[in-house]
Amino acid sequence: MGFVINTRHRLEQNGRAVERIASPAAHTGGTFGSTPHILIMHFTYGASARSSASWFQNPENTSKSSAHVVVDRDGSVIQCVDFDTAANHAGNSSWGGLTSFNTKSFGIELANWGYLKPGPGGSWTSYTNVPIASPFLAAHKNGNPYRPSDAAIGWEPYPPEQMATAVAIARALAAKYGVDTILGHDDIARGRKWDPGPAFDMARFRTQVLGGRAEDGPNILTVRSPTGLNLRQGAGTEFAVIQLLADGTQVAPVEHRSSWWFVNVLDDEGVAHKSGWVHGAFLA
Ligand SMILES: [Zn+2]
Repeated sequence: MGFVINTRHRLEQNGRAVERIASPAAHTGGTFGSTPHILIMHFTYGASARSSASWFQNPENTSKSSAHVVVDRDGSVIQCVDFDTAANHAGNSSWGGLTSFNTKSFGIELANWGYLKPGPGGSWTSYTNVPIASPFLAAHKNGNPYRPSDAAIGWEPYPPEQMATAVAIARALAAKYGVDTILGHDDIARGRKWDPGPAFDMARFRTQVLGGRAEDGPNILTVRSPTGLNLRQGAGTEFAVIQLLADGTQVAPVEHRSSWWFVNVLDDEGVAHKSGWVHGAFLA
């Protein structure tokens, strides 16, 4: 699935511009002062790409939010803001000494219900009561959006079709504008935002888009401990154990705080199914 960005800073797929539901100019910051090289990933906390694109146009949207594109669960995409224009997707934000990421980044929204609420019998639903059959169970690396902050809670998984489109769009942004840094909204607005959350395999996404350039370590690590390694809810032995990972288990590192790593645990197909913190001394 090839995407390119044309001279009008709009996304094309197979030689045709993708569907456009333009956010009003009042929901943007106008033309970028300088071309961003940062990409911020989001979930919409909503029903569909179309519903979110429509919300960006809605007069009741008093925060005047917008984003460059919204990718639906089936991999289809809607462009809302041209890539030469600052979208209102980041809000109050800071990371790496930078602030005000609306003027410094592109924003891709993924249609996704985000963090789920527990229902009867171990079930999980969206806040609008849509059941999510096989949620990704994990605690958020910055603490959950609701208590208990460090327990594994349900998150809507991102379908492969949606991830493939997101990767292809991010590659087009890298090719056209030199994007070299990919962050989550939860990296630049810690404690205020939880998207794209633990169900989004950021380490894999960065590798697929940027190759090895953005990695500060190998992308896949292996548990090396004959007695197993505790996957914990936080970066320290005082946090509860989520699961004992067997020797040889493969994990994808997301980030580390001193000697503790937040990792996605991979199944036999290399797909992340759980996440948490492990001590880095037992990874190789
Ligand atoms: Zn966001």
